[in-house]
Amino acid sequence: MDLEKVLDKLSEKEREFISILIEKDPLTGVYNRRKFDNDIKLLISMSERTTRGCGLLIIDIDNFKDFNDKFGHFEGDQLLRTVTQNIEQSLRNYDKIHIYRYGGEEFVVIIPDTSSNNALAIGERLRRNVKKACDVTVSIGVSHYKELAGNINELITNADKALYEAKRAGKDKALLYEKTP
Ligand code: GH3
Ligand code: MG
Ligand code: MG
Repeated sequence: MDLEKVLDKLSEKEREFISILIEKDPLTGVYNRRKFDNDIKLLISMSERTTRGCGLLIIDIDNFKDFNDKFGHFEGDQLLRTVTQNIEQSLRNYDKIHIYRYGGEEFVVIIPDTSSNNALAIGERLRRNVKKACDVTVSIGVSHYKELAGNINELITNADKALYEAKRAGKDKALLYEKTP
């Protein structure tokens, strides 16, 4: 069945409800992976028209398994919500920012129309805010289209590589992906 045709038959309220079910993560209330996959395509094609391109942060909670083991899954869920709120608050002044729960304890933030250095600065501020307000720290990998990646796949892979480096370097760090010749 064609989803568009089904949605057309619904009232505005019903459509709104369905889109929340489809696009949002029920635990944290931010957008989910499905919405990310959609938005990133749009934002990348939009950034073809802007001068600065688009930043991407992958945020991973440090030692979250230990937290769950120590305090239980319920407290772990609560912490996911607190970290989400903190990410949201850290980014409040930027109206064009998009937050997604990417996996279990991983979040992605897209920052349209920005430079790679600015994306790193946002990541660093976010890391500091979470550390101050939560019982855990986060590691963040930062990449950028087109300064550090030529397509969506590279953008995500490179942010992931930077995240891996941040973990390897001792966690509680925001690192920008470094192009190696
Ligand atoms: P690292 O610093 O290397 O990222 O270590 P880590 O322990 O955070 O990473 P690891 O991948 O070993 O463990 C992730 C943990 O996240 C394990 C899993 O139980 C927990 N987790 C994933 N999703 C949820 C969730 O929805 N709720 C809770 N409470 N825990 C979750
Ligand atoms: Mg992880
Ligand atoms: Mg983790």
